[in-house]
Amino acid sequence: MGVARTPLIAGNWKMNLDHLQAIAFVQKLAWSLKDAKHSFGEVEVAVFPPFTDLRSVQTLIAADKLELVHGAQDVSIHDNGAYTGEISGAFLKALACSYVIIGHSERRQYHHEDDGVVAQKTVAALKHGVTPVVCVGETAEDLEAHGPAAVPVGQLETVLDAISASDADAEIVVAYEPVWAIGSGQAASPEQAQQVCAALRAAIVEKLGEDAAARTRILYGGSVKSGNIAGFMAQKDVDGALVGGASLDAAEFAAIARFR
Ligand code: PGA
Repeated sequence: MGVARTPLIAGNWKMNLDHLQAIAFVQKLAWSLKDAKHSFGEVEVAVFPPFTDLRSVQTLIAADKLELVHGAQDVSIHDNGAYTGEISGAFLKALACSYVIIGHSERRQYHHEDDGVVAQKTVAALKHGVTPVVCVGETAEDLEAHGPAAVPVGQLETVLDAISASDADAEIVVAYEPVWAIGSGQAASPEQAQQVCAALRAAIVEKLGEDAAARTRILYGGSVKSGNIAGFMAQKDVDGALVGGASLDAAEFAAIARFR
């Protein structure tokens, strides 16, 4: 049976916009998005600012009742304690974060986060009631050596094993982001994205069952812009996008949210 999955358009700001710039940006984005939901049907729009912006963005969204949600870009595996520089899931929950990005390729590359750490962070987010957006994706070398789906599916399986051991009914979001497509201007084709997203959904069926697979949103990310979003959204297993560079332009990001 088909389950309607609400599309999610997520903007990963990375290390851009301080809290003052964030306030101005979110106001502009909210204005640009004004008619997106009403004219184009249901879509969830999320922004992922740096940690230092979260309180300002939370306050603005609440005060102005904006139709936006916010999330963080990383979370600690620990709850609290002597972990200098870390931010716990409990703190994110206290700032009303709906989501947290986990295992982005930049953290895998620059902070040496492996699949085990990504799985631990996923469990930590779930423990505190913050929905993880688990990023997986292959490098250009992986693509050549193993084909498109093997590496991202393997990355996701480690996370799914950890979830099935703790909370098999938990809501997660998966983001398929081929590393070669991130920030390169060279997006995957919609067909390539569909092929891998279908393989990721099949892995969810295997590890967590049909119902979990049917309700889990799988996003595509990597050089998404207003000019190519429709092709991705037309794919059966693509339920949204994780947008980096193009999410820093309010009008462009709003145009992506109007993908239909
Ligand atoms: P990009 O980044 O849209 O700039 O390619 C995507 C991401 O890193 O999430």
